[in-house]
Amino acid sequence: MTIFDSVQKKKRIFKPLVEGKVTLYVCGPTVYDDAHLGHAKSALVFDLLSRVLHANGYDVTYARNITDIDDKIIKKAVEQQKDIKTITDFYTEAFHTEMAAIGVKRPDIEPKATESLEAMFTLIEELIENGHAYKTADGDVYFDTKSDNEYLTLSHRVQDADERQERVESSQEKKNPADFALWKSIKDDSITFDSPFGAGRPGWHLECSAMIEKHLAYKDKPYAIDIHGGGADLLFPHHENEAAQTRCATKHELANYWMHNGFVNIDGEKMSKSLGNSFFLKDALREYDGEVLRFYLLSSHYRSNFNFNTHDLEASKKRLDRLYRLKKRLFGLAQNSEPTPFKEQLLTTISDDLNISESLALIDTMVAHANETLDTPGKHKQLKRELMANLGFIEELLGFGVKNPYEYFQFGVDEQTKEKLTQLIKQRDTAKKAKDFAASDALREEILSYGVNLMDTPQGTFWEKV
Ligand SMILES: [Zn+2]
Repeated sequence: MTIFDSVQKKKRIFKPLVEGKVTLYVCGPTVYDDAHLGHAKSALVFDLLSRVLHANGYDVTYARNITDIDDKIIKKAVEQQKDIKTITDFYTEAFHTEMAAIGVKRPDIEPKATESLEAMFTLIEELIENGHAYKTADGDVYFDTKSDNEYLTLSHRVQDADERQERVESSQEKKNPADFALWKSIKDDSITFDSPFGAGRPGWHLECSAMIEKHLAYKDKPYAIDIHGGGADLLFPHHENEAAQTRCATKHELANYWMHNGFVNIDGEKMSKSLGNSFFLKDALREYDGEVLRFYLLSSHYRSNFNFNTHDLEASKKRLDRLYRLKKRLFGLAQNSEPTPFKEQLLTTISDDLNISESLALIDTMVAHANETLDTPGKHKQLKRELMANLGFIEELLGFGVKNPYEYFQFGVDEQTKEKLTQLIKQRDTAKKAKDFAASDALREEILSYGVNLMDTPQGTFWEKV
């Protein structure tokens, strides 16, 4: 396998710290609002990575955190006069439901900030002891960036680090403008957490380092974990600061490989709330099947910026439809896990830094050839077996084609109409059996009036949305 390491800025052959095992950590959502397409993209990319690692035979431990302590959460809780848990539980559940709808598997470990405070205190205490952090008269604790000779080696930033960090948190008591908070004291009657450093809240970057130490880190390796991932916007300052904390507290580097996914733009503009083009996943899910969104958002390389627009989305849907049409031709046949040349080629291709474009091109070609051959006379038993193995592998590896093909083409039809159509099809079957062709024709017309196509197959009668 190869991975493009965004710190070394080159493609590297993947070699885990312990043979056969992979530790993967990805920065997860801050649960104070609905997930937008940028969250979906990041979750999808690392879901794909974890599937590809599995398919290469690795025993993967994948952790993605839930940030449930944050100024924005505290602000919302105070404004709405709610417990912060009421807010964070609501958005955590929504996040899980929406991620499941786009086929993102739950990570093995999902640590929450509120459940990791002890690990964060330990890390701060180690940093103070080692002379890498200091307390201020205000009760804050800062990381001393000048104490770390390796600071900025991750993001390769030189000039603008001080300025950027200062904009995030300015304080008269900081030793250096680039120093960042490990603990922020809160003195008003807002929501606070108790700590050995006084009441307040943890700093923005601390939880990931603490969670990695608690749940994933090797203690005897030069790196705590194999792969650390997240959106490209997290490289600086978030990942730079995570790396500094871990390096200075534990004497090992945080991750051997760093992977960053590109931004999602909406019609050419960077998605943001202030621009009013923030696109919530839940809204997109009302219009499109979750798998269509999965296919579309994964259809270009994870490192490039993604330009979301409905024209491309529709074109992408047609491509996924073709896979489902083939699935439909083979409906009722059993899947198998036989090795095939296609499976081998697909795994090799996707294992090259998640080369999705070539992988999808391979699938297109496989589907086109399959249809051509199936159109010729003959039973094609061997081909069908091979195709069932290929389709099963695509499901497992990429999460495409996981649905019943008939249901896939019924997206957007409400439950009531579906029930009605099921009833009408039953009545038509009865009429056909009784050779009452007038009645069965009338029922057929009634079914078609719902804007659906009707298909009589050896497995029964099915319908799909036109
Ligand atoms: Zn993080």
